[in-house]
Amino acid sequence: MLEQPYFCPNCRSNRVKFQLVTTYTQPLMKNAITGAIVETGDTVPVSDAEPTIQCRVCGFAGNEQRFLKQAEKEPRVQTPTTSTLF
Ligand SMILES: [Zn+2]
Repeated sequence: MLEQPYFCPNCRSNRVKFQLVTTYTQPLMKNAITGAIVETGDTVPVSDAEPTIQCRVCGFAGNEQRFLKQAEKEPRVQTPTTSTLF
């Protein structure tokens, strides 16, 4: 995951609430006749080159790049605080 701004390309209202969707591998043993799982091993996260990100506002899930690109297209500008006294 990159430390860069995200912006949901679907609802276009969320820049802060996301979740990372990861893949795990888990070894398992099945009973050949019944199909029952008889033994499982430890889960190991699979590190994706481009992780999947999900927006926690609208539920849209997509490649991290889509969220990064959207944030680049519509950058949040830091509006300077201007004095109204004068
Ligand atoms: Zn969204």
